Amino acid sequence: MTYSLKCLFVAVFILVSVGSSLQAQDIKIEGLRFGKTADATRFVLDVSGQINPRVFMLSNPNRIVIDVPNANWGTKKNVKVSGLVAGYRHGLFSSDVYRIVLDLKSAATVKNRFALPASGRRSNRYVIDLKPATSAQFVKAVADTRKIRISNRETRAPVIEPRKKNGKRVIVLDPGHGGPDPGTLGRSGANEKTITLKIAKEIKARLEATGRYKVYLTRTRDIFVRHRRRFALAKSVDADLFISVHVDAIDNKKVRGGTVYTLNERASDKEAARLAAKENRSEILAGVDLAETTDEVSNILIELAQRETLNNSARFAEILVPEMRGQVRMHKRGHRFANFLVLKSPDVPSVLIETGYITNREDARMLSSKEGQRRISKAINIAVDKYFDTLLALGR
Ligand SMILES: [Zn+2]
Repeated sequence: MTYSLKCLFVAVFILVSVGSSLQAQDIKIEGLRFGKTADATRFVLDVSGQINPRVFMLSNPNRIVIDVPNANWGTKKNVKVSGLVAGYRHGLFSSDVYRIVLDLKSAATVKNRFALPASGRRSNRYVIDLKPATSAQFVKAVADTRKIRISNRETRAPVIEPRKKNGKRVIVLDPGHGGPDPGTLGRSGANEKTITLKIAKEIKARLEATGRYKVYLTRTRDIFVRHRRRFALAKSVDADLFISVHVDAIDNKKVRGGTVYTLNERASDKEAARLAAKENRSEILAGVDLAETTDEVSNILIELAQRETLNNSARFAEILVPEMRGQVRMHKRGHRFANFLVLKSPDVPSVLIETGYITNREDARMLSSKEGQRRISKAINIAVDKYFDTLLALGR
């Protein structure tokens, strides 16, 4: 392991959502709307109490990020965007910050923002007016708000104390996406982030019931976790295997079936490359400033000369695909490769499972059902057993 890698793993604190770290979520965001004033796009949040959000801008793509401390979402309504705003997402960014990300149609800056107290039947409101800007003005606004986003990094959650292995193999399950990054969206309103968490919990229960495994989740609730933190968790608990769980989406609604991916700088095919690019966008969706991300993750690729990790990842994938095929629909070519950030663990064998297509009716039904989730976890359980038996036979 090189010096840079050691630095990374010493420096990274592990974020795992444990119940005890939950803080009181005092504020409820009860509604939101977009409107127009004479010269601005108005964004209004209805809130249960007074808030003073941190607001900052990001470029490439242009976004405005609104972080509300100690808040949670209390409305199911989706609203239409208008004016300068092209879309929005929201979710728990860290245990004490609720994040809303506005995608901008074109450069814009905050003209003014202010709180309105509750009056009569109206609740507390927070208003942000956006006005069109030149790209130079936008660049300046990004620079001006840089301090805010730096002071607003994800909270450091407690480092997990790895328990003694006691002869148990350690497995880290990674439910894809979370918080302001919903992953792919199904037509029925089901989000990838919700389905992956359910499947991962089902797999955990099944694997732990065998008594052979200690299983950790990279997240246990709907919260954002960066790619690097996901695989750093695997490192910190000395994991023997890392399994990232995802759900795919595609325009062609007829396409269905699961695929198991392992890491390769060069994708096995165009479709795999497209998928990896999409999955790697997580941090952009969640309003993370990639300009501040050092190239630790790309450095790690060099370490992948550690052939054994890659060999074992492929070994597990090859065992897993036929087991999955026995339970659920799989692609003809069930094992493929691409450059997924979340699989860049230098010494923990890692796979990413696209369990099916949320855009296909049958797949969506299967993925959202208890029965479908059971089938997937059964296949994974059998494959995990076989994989470790194979390693044992090889004396590892
Ligand atoms: Zn995904």
